[in-house]
Amino acid sequence: MKIPFNRPHITGKEIEYLSEAIALGHLSGDGSYTKRCQRWLEKTTGCNKALLTHSCTAALEMAAILADIQPGDQIIMPSYTFASTANAFVLRGGVPVFVDIRKDTLNIDERIIRAAINEKTKAIVPVHYAGVPCEMNTIMSIAEEYKLIVIEDSAQGIMSLYRGRPLGSIGHMAAVSFHESKNIISGEGGALIINDPNLVERAEIIREKGTNRKAFLKGMVDKYTWVDMGSSYLPGELVSALLMAQLESAHSITEKRMKIWKHYYELLSELESQDKARRPQIPSDCIHNAHIFYLLLNDWKDRDVLLDYLDREGIGAVSHYVPLHISKAGRQWSIISGILENTEVVSKSIVRLPVYPDLTLEEVKFICGKAISFFN
Ligand SMILES: *Cc1c(COP(=O)(O)O)cnc(C)c1O
Repeated sequence: MKIPFNRPHITGKEIEYLSEAIALGHLSGDGSYTKRCQRWLEKTTGCNKALLTHSCTAALEMAAILADIQPGDQIIMPSYTFASTANAFVLRGGVPVFVDIRKDTLNIDERIIRAAINEKTKAIVPVHYAGVPCEMNTIMSIAEEYKLIVIEDSAQGIMSLYRGRPLGSIGHMAAVSFHESKNIISGEGGALIINDPNLVERAEIIREKGTNRKAFLKGMVDKYTWVDMGSSYLPGELVSALLMAQLESAHSITEKRMKIWKHYYELLSELESQDKARRPQIPSDCIHNAHIFYLLLNDWKDRDVLLDYLDREGIGAVSHYVPLHISKAGRQWSIISGILENTEVVSKSIVRLPVYPDLTLEEVKFICGKAISFFN
């Protein structure tokens, strides 16, 4: 039987919560399940306000409006990321400025961010790749020095810690994903995490189609009306009910993934000692969430051959991120700062192996055996 790259994990509480949401009779957004999910996120991250959205992409779009991105404003980010990181800003006329990534964590290289800053720079968007934290202390002090806004793309970052601090709780804002491919899922789903209290009121308006409905529901105004730009960014209650079941199991889901991740790490150590491929590197002061296990092949020409081989053996391994600066839209809408050599090398040499809570350790052993036999 084929081992897929990903298989959505169901905790067992989902149907009960979905039935309860239906019985409660409130199916549009911001019902009791949405509020419970938001409180969970607020408690877990310590943020000022968490607002559920229908995707991380939507949360990034809200963040771009909140950051007041104007046409021509520049936003510093890695090119080694998903299209939404850049797209959210391009929609506002902003110009993504791509900076290279570090060889060890594959995160934006904080040491070369300064060189990309000019008078048009408005924001920095660090992406916590594979749930491994970016070097946030350096990024936050650069942002403070140049008065820039920091929006964490924490799509992959739930349950990870940077020097003891939850990802998403460090920048002015952060965007989280609950897409089926992530650790905690609601099919499609996401959240905007707001740490800067000055942004909360406007965020609630932007999320509610640019109206002050939230203030109206709280009894703060006597009718509600169009007050700002916005869209409909809130999920319905069924999505939130599904999400609540997952959030309640966030610790056990992360533990299951970590066991799998560590098994890969141990079983594949010989590929590293034989100089065939290297494994992920986690900074010693960080705790990650086992979102992705990857190998970086020393000879990138082996990569597609290995993917084909694993596919024939029934293993769903994948590569990812055509760097945004090479993509069709990226070439049209964004610019580059410096040389993006690490980005291009990683993109050509990465192999992601299956990681999902229901993957057995026997299956991991099988996958590792096949990967090792490929090189021998
Ligand atoms: C998955 C992902 C997104 C998009 O998340 P959606 O919830 O699918 O919109 C954005 N950025 C990164 C880095 C991602 O991995």
